[in-house]
Amino acid sequence: MLYGKKVSHVPVVERILAPTSEHKALLSILDDSLAIAEFSPDGTLLSANGLYQKLFGYSSAQLSGLHHRVLYASSMSDASACDRLWGSLKNGQAISGQYPYMRADGRLLWLAATYKAVFAADGRVDKVVTFATDVTARVEQERLEHEHTRLISLFAEHSHNALVLADHKGCVLFVNDAVYRLFGYTSQELLGKPLMQLFNSLQAQSTPLSEVLEHLDTGNSYRSEELLYSKSRQPLLCALRVNPIVDEHGAFSHVVCVVNDLTDAKIHEVLQRKALESMAGEAPLAEVMTLICNEVERIAPEVVASILRVDEHCALRPLASPSLPQSFARALDGVVIGPDVGSCGTAAFIGSPVHVRDIENDPLWAPYKHLPLPLGLRACWSTPIKTSAGQVIGTFAFYYREVRDPSEFHKRLVQICTHLCALALERESARLKIRQLAFYDSLTGLPNRNLLLANADQAIASAERNQQSLAVLFIDLDRFKQVNDSFGHPAGDDLLCLIAERLRSEAWSSEIIGRWSGDEFVIVLNPCTAAQAVGTVERLQALISMPCDIGGITLMPSASIGISQYPDDGHDMETLLHCADLAMYQAKTRGRGRFSFFSNDMNQLAQERLTLEIALRNALQKQHLQLHYQPLVNLKTGALLGVEALARWHDPVFGHVSPTRFIPLAEESGLIGVLSDWALTQSCRQLAQWRSEGLAVPGVSVNLSATNFHNRDLPRQIIDTLTQYALEPHDLTLEITESVMLDPNPSIMLNLHELHTLGIELAMDDFGTGYSSLSYLRRIPLSTLKLDKSFVHDMEHDAAAQALTRAVIRIGESLNLTVVAEGVENEAQRALLQAQGCEVGQGYLFTRPLSPEQLAEWLKSTACGV
Ligand code: C2E
Ligand code: CA
Ligand code: CA
Repeated sequence: MLYGKKVSHVPVVERILAPTSEHKALLSILDDSLAIAEFSPDGTLLSANGLYQKLFGYSSAQLSGLHHRVLYASSMSDASACDRLWGSLKNGQAISGQYPYMRADGRLLWLAATYKAVFAADGRVDKVVTFATDVTARVEQERLEHEHTRLISLFAEHSHNALVLADHKGCVLFVNDAVYRLFGYTSQELLGKPLMQLFNSLQAQSTPLSEVLEHLDTGNSYRSEELLYSKSRQPLLCALRVNPIVDEHGAFSHVVCVVNDLTDAKIHEVLQRKALESMAGEAPLAEVMTLICNEVERIAPEVVASILRVDEHCALRPLASPSLPQSFARALDGVVIGPDVGSCGTAAFIGSPVHVRDIENDPLWAPYKHLPLPLGLRACWSTPIKTSAGQVIGTFAFYYREVRDPSEFHKRLVQICTHLCALALERESARLKIRQLAFYDSLTGLPNRNLLLANADQAIASAERNQQSLAVLFIDLDRFKQVNDSFGHPAGDDLLCLIAERLRSEAWSSEIIGRWSGDEFVIVLNPCTAAQAVGTVERLQALISMPCDIGGITLMPSASIGISQYPDDGHDMETLLHCADLAMYQAKTRGRGRFSFFSNDMNQLAQERLTLEIALRNALQKQHLQLHYQPLVNLKTGALLGVEALARWHDPVFGHVSPTRFIPLAEESGLIGVLSDWALTQSCRQLAQWRSEGLAVPGVSVNLSATNFHNRDLPRQIIDTLTQYALEPHDLTLEITESVMLDPNPSIMLNLHELHTLGIELAMDDFGTGYSSLSYLRRIPLSTLKLDKSFVHDMEHDAAAQALTRAVIRIGESLNLTVVAEGVENEAQRALLQAQGCEVGQGYLFTRPLSPEQLAEWLKSTACGV
């Protein structure tokens, strides 16, 4: 056999094996199905058969002399693989394997090849022969399959969902990383374990999961939402899907479980839906917040939720804490935030969450820990609630019953909640702002026309129901245009604000006030008589006309006021306003700072009243009033038991004015304080004087008005006066009327009890005429009931009046009170009263009220007190 540099055309097998003729056919088949090539020991291709040439896409001439390195696709395996191959071959080893090659066109060719050395006679390697078959298609297939598996496992590992694969017996074969992330179980803890064990430990209570697995046999999958628990007992709301896998023979072979954590999404959805629904339904803020707290405590029963607002003065204001006692919220109300004010006050102050693990020992809670500790609350984690602009407007807190940190779950919960709370709070402030804009005047902050009219309509309706009268005041500033023109609009605005403030300070809760337009204001007094209206108007005018400083200039403002009345002048606000407006113009025509009623009669009355008031003021100042004294006597013996001081006023112009006229006037115009002080001092002085003159007057009674008892200094003043005249407290009796029971001022009761404690006697005057409920008799420490003179007047001829006097006398007896019959004018009345068991009387039968001198005379003449 000849070997040349050229590749021979004799089939390689034939040439190598030098076959006998009978093998030639067989060899040619081999030559067709195997790619065969021979290489020199250094790897240079010597010859190759047709299939080899075809697989590589080279002609035999191109192949000849090519080094094996050129054919081998070293990029597919490590570069040294080829060298190692040849190293082994040189040592005479036969090598088999699956190798990558590069075709002439650059495509990859996989061959299952065997390389074998052929030895020369001297034992050296003569050449290397390779036999190969094309396995490119199979390798490619395998590669694709391998890639597929790789992608699938990548997918499983990185899935957010927890995946569990089990065999048909429910034995766990595979779990992905998400199982650990979600439930806290490692794959070692689960692999090979029964699937049920995992789910049983996850489940809150056994739900149909066990049945589910049994039913998987039937080829049906199962899906549901379950409340599962992690290894650390954290509740997780999960979507669970269990699918059976069936093998090619239709037999149930595996189970795939997909668990999806819905907790956040679900909580978000439920909380958000409920809170938003409630907000959309215009529920009050506190209700929305309570709902959020309740929902949170339902989802996480281990926490106690509390929401506080931070007001414009940086003080905490409780909004909701449904599981805490009200006293807790009250104690926090108004606490100003700061760097060491519990969890919430501090969180609000620094603008980030504050967690106090151990309330008992944390200095932040030192001044407040007496609140949570008795309730068993040991830790408090508070998160500020912020507006979208980052301003702190509230706090959201979790209290814990043990010393602990918040869980991841709690953190997510709070994130959702603070967001909703911020929304609700911002919405509330927007609503208030809109309300402010819609119903309040932006300059003065007073109600605007809209709100004023709405309030007035309500007031008219209530006056109609209660058959009361009501007054509408139309107030117009005098010379306001001049202020604007001379000092500029800002000064005008300042003046309007100041006047608004003055009006507001005078108006109390039952009054309605508003800015009508420009320099016009409206006040509705409800209920209100003409006389009361005059009193209020005078006070208002006095207040408005106080000098004020506007931009460095002292102004003397004044206002003209028009008054109309319901029902006399109109039945609706439009008419009443129109009348009040006309009345105001009328007032202006009479000069500045005046008032006028719409109706003429009223004007006249008001005018008279005004002059009378001026006269009374004058009389009080000049001590022109006098006191007369009417004795209280024992009905049986005629003995003197005391005297009642009654005010008398003789005016040079008006003549004798009855106290039934000037006392109400004094009450309405604020003069009653001065009048009563005078009456008290005068009575005490007189009593002391009589005694010093040797007249045994047992005591004096002084009439006081309800407003006198507003003054908390009254007891001290009275004691001072008594001391000044060396009198004992029981020398003085104060007569009050049932009207004190209609006055809600709390000072009244305090004063009455204090006076009683001091030993001063209290008498209920005009008993039987006023207040219907008798229950007050037990609440006021009285010593005397004064039976009203109207009963005494009627009793002679009226059986019903007699029954009433008898009843009053019985009430007095049963409550251990002295009953004094007023207005005893004749002997018949005296006898009847005495027969009924009444012991004390007062009236013309004994004497009219007398001047001090007259009383002394009377005493001497009757000799009853001497
Ligand atoms: P009052 O406290 O019920 O005083 C008794 C009134 O009955 C007195 O009227 C007295 O003159 C009158 N009176 C006495 N005996 C008889 C009688 O036999 N027949 C009739 N028809 N009347 C009799 P007066 O002095 O006109 O006082 C009227 C009311 O003015 C008093 O009623 C009292 O409520 C009030 N008042 C008088 N002085 C003062 C005072 O200094 N301060 C206060 N706050 N009120 C006073
Ligand atoms: Ca009286
Ligand atoms: Ca009386």
